[in-house]
Amino acid sequence: MAVCSFCNNPLRPGAGLMYVLRDGVIFSFCSSKCKKNQLKLKREGRLTRWTSKGLVLESQKSEEQKKESALAKEIEQKLKEKEEKKKEQKR
Ligand SMILES: [Zn+2]
Repeated sequence: MAVCSFCNNPLRPGAGLMYVLRDGVIFSFCSSKCKKNQLKLKREGRLTRWTSKGLVLESQKSEEQKKESALAKEIEQKLKEKEEKKKEQKR
C-alpha cells in the first residue's frame, strides 16, 4: 500500500496525490496539507508533531520523560519521608 511520504499515513488506492520532481524523486501525499508542508514549508515529517512519523518520536520522548518523572517522584517521596522522620524525632 502506498504511504504518504510526509506523514506516513497509509493511502487507499486512488486516494491522495502523487508529486514527481524533475529529478525523478516521487512523493505521494495524502492531502494538500502534507504537500504544502513538504514542498512549500520544507518541513520534515519526523520533526512535525501531527504526523505519525513525528508521533513515533514523541512517544519515545514521552517514555523517557515518564522514566525521569518516576525517578523524580521516588526522590521526592524519600525526601518527604526523611523530613517526616526528622519531625517525629523532634517530638
Ligand atoms: Zn500525509
